[in-house]
Amino acid sequence: MANKGKILVTGGTGYIGSHTAVELFNAGYEPVIIDNLSNSNIGVLDGIKAITGTLPTYENIDCKDYISLGHFMERHSDIKAIIHFAASKSVGESVEQPLVYYRNNIVSLINLLQLMPKFNINNIVFSSSCTVYGQPDVLPVTENSPIKPATSPYGSTKQMSETILRDASAADKNLNVVLLRYFNPIGAHPSAEIGELPNGIPNNLLPYLTQTVAGIRKTLKVFGNDYSTPDGSCIRDYINVVDLAKAHVCAIDRILEKKNKKNLEVFNLGTGKGVSVLEIINTFEKATGMKVPYEIAPRRTGDIEQVWADASHANKELGWKAEATLEETLLSAWKWQQKLQEREPKAE
Ligand code: UDP
Repeated sequence: MANKGKILVTGGTGYIGSHTAVELFNAGYEPVIIDNLSNSNIGVLDGIKAITGTLPTYENIDCKDYISLGHFMERHSDIKAIIHFAASKSVGESVEQPLVYYRNNIVSLINLLQLMPKFNINNIVFSSSCTVYGQPDVLPVTENSPIKPATSPYGSTKQMSETILRDASAADKNLNVVLLRYFNPIGAHPSAEIGELPNGIPNNLLPYLTQTVAGIRKTLKVFGNDYSTPDGSCIRDYINVVDLAKAHVCAIDRILEKKNKKNLEVFNLGTGKGVSVLEIINTFEKATGMKVPYEIAPRRTGDIEQVWADASHANKELGWKAEATLEETLLSAWKWQQKLQEREPKAE
């Protein structure tokens, strides 16, 4: 396939970054990855190679390091666009270490934006989050729904990053920005060659659930069954990570083909469907034939009750749609967990 050009993927060995690198290869792009491996490992590159047949170019670079980042760009003078994933992402950790989060997430973005014009890079796709909407008053959430005050330093960094990109794109009409607001990414590549690598005890539902089924954790706690939802548990919009990765390729195609209507565009990336925690458990059991040991626990502080996307803007403008069924996605998460177990079995 013809090489459609080099795309710098920061955080490319991470969960969403690695799946996006695969989809970039599949679409004929050449992903070049930088990552400081703070929450991933080098073996992910072999996973990408097992799927695509190509070992991606990789360098261990921390985006906070302006000098190294600049030297990297100098060595790769033909980068067409950047997809910026490299960031810290744990809500709880951000409350304990806010300065680490502001430095990691904000300094990295500013470094990239300051270096881009020096190397004639005009295009950036940014990983944002539905966390910017807080608990919305109206569901589903569109891109025009109000941004609510952030409830954690992590959430603040996503809002600040969006503001920085908005201001930078207003000041420089040559700069094209796409903000992708992810809902809840779950699952793994169907090959089980790459997936999520949770560090320590997982906070997120899916890795905790699969680790529980695998016997690494005793019981999955369902945080609250007294919410104003049909079954009382919280509702989210769970988006398959491969579908999510493909949306990044659509965003890159759009800006490189100059089809963007403004130099800053925002897209919600979700399925458009809300699913409760108890529905996730039931569907997982149906898809895999495995029992999920769970108990109802008190509400988790800071959780919002329900949120799901109106993804019609991305459907129409990016020509992208979430395709995987929830069953397929949950099965892929389980296959990935089993693969991890084969590699390094461990007990609680
Ligand atoms: N959740 C749960 N038990 C867990 C982890 C999460 O019941 O061990 C629930 C959580 O309350 C929320 C949903 O699962 O309703 C998704 O949580 P997650 O942390 O994965 O993502 P969030 O939407 O909070 O960013």
